[in-house]
Amino acid sequence: MRIVLADLAGKSGFVSKDTVAGGYGSRLRPFSKVTRIYSSLKRRFHDVPSVHLAYLAAIADRAGHEVTYTRGTPVDGDVAIVLSSLVDFKQETAWADVMRARGTRVGFIGLAASKMPELFEPHADFLVDGEPEAAMMQLVAGDTFSGRVASPALPDLDALPFPRWDLLNERRFRLDVPGAGRPAGGGFSVLASRGCPEFCTYCPHRILAGYRTRSVENIADELAYLCESNPRPYVIFRDPLFSEDRERSLAIADAIERRGLDLRFECETRLDRLDPDLLNRLHAAGMRAMSFGVESVSADTLKKVGRRPIPQEQQRLVVNHCRSLGIVTAGFFVLGFPHDTWDSIAATIEYAVDLGSTVAQFKLLTPYPATPLWKQIGPKVYEKNWEEFDGFTPTFHHPSLSGDELRYLLDAAYNRFYLRPSYLANYCRISQAGLRDMIARLDVRVAGIHTRREVAQMARSVTC
Ligand code: SF4
Repeated sequence: MRIVLADLAGKSGFVSKDTVAGGYGSRLRPFSKVTRIYSSLKRRFHDVPSVHLAYLAAIADRAGHEVTYTRGTPVDGDVAIVLSSLVDFKQETAWADVMRARGTRVGFIGLAASKMPELFEPHADFLVDGEPEAAMMQLVAGDTFSGRVASPALPDLDALPFPRWDLLNERRFRLDVPGAGRPAGGGFSVLASRGCPEFCTYCPHRILAGYRTRSVENIADELAYLCESNPRPYVIFRDPLFSEDRERSLAIADAIERRGLDLRFECETRLDRLDPDLLNRLHAAGMRAMSFGVESVSADTLKKVGRRPIPQEQQRLVVNHCRSLGIVTAGFFVLGFPHDTWDSIAATIEYAVDLGSTVAQFKLLTPYPATPLWKQIGPKVYEKNWEEFDGFTPTFHHPSLSGDELRYLLDAAYNRFYLRPSYLANYCRISQAGLRDMIARLDVRVAGIHTRREVAQMARSVTC
């Protein structure tokens, strides 16, 4: 059988699919000079191929089928599997229509197809509901699918073959950029676990399947396989919560060192799941970057959306220790929680600046379908176009802030974080006390410029 795997490249703004927003995806259409540069850098560093399709390629190839990969060009095949998203579903369904007109059966996989089947059903022969590997094993064994196909989560992730990047034509050029952590051109995604054991009500990462982990030896085998086929690979652990289990994280670091694997890696995690000793071990094993959710500075706001707050001292301890080791840190922040006000968002932005992660990403709270948050505030959602659920667009009637105010605060967050001398100083890892004092004084002057512009534009500043 000829199997086409399609991960369609977004055409407007910077689109991320696969594991981003659990699979619903995000789309950043730049709305300022800062976000234009930010979006352009994301395109160069974060446009990585789909790990889910790489798994499906491995399953199909193992069963002796021919695999073709496309980012948009229609290609001949017997069956096409399309990676679905919410933010780009119109292009995905239009592509499916073209392929079906050519005589190819088309199926969709991913969170969007699982939770929003009505968007895809008219354009598909089948929809895979759940993690796609179990269904793929049936398909390559000869099953003919139609309609909705239940695909239960595999309890034993070690039984899966390793993702086949070579079948996705992923021999791309990668360039190390000083201070950036991840190379331009991206890296190899690895899923050491799936799902998340936490309970944040707004999060789509935990609604497709339960939390499961792979064995340390199986992960180390995959890393060794990557090292055999690529010189000094850069590995991107896509687990939403990589260091959930401290002992397991140490065992992964040990396995990398014991086997002498020459690689670098990054992960995403919670800051209460890290400490200086663990960071030292992970750094020695090759960790060069990490991302983490702070979301809001307010513990009350976080508790109201089911997120366990992390003490600020712990957050500062981890970020500062990363800086001392040269690990690039990326903090994630969410603006517009139901209990947020102008002042509370200003406080979160101020905290983001003060925490001093190397980079920061700010998004607007988005009530994703099938999350507990959706059930709670679904009636307040006014946005009818699902592609606007992109993480950067207001979609529901906020109790105290208009859509324009939320957009303005988002814009201000990027300006205040990236347009200040200490951002460059952090990026360049400048730590000399005298220089830092001078930079702090310059920061105050630049903050004054931001304040004056905000007052002129909105009659109030983004300060608390
Ligand atoms: S910690 Fe919360 S926001 Fe992060 S992946 Fe888990 S449930 Fe989602």
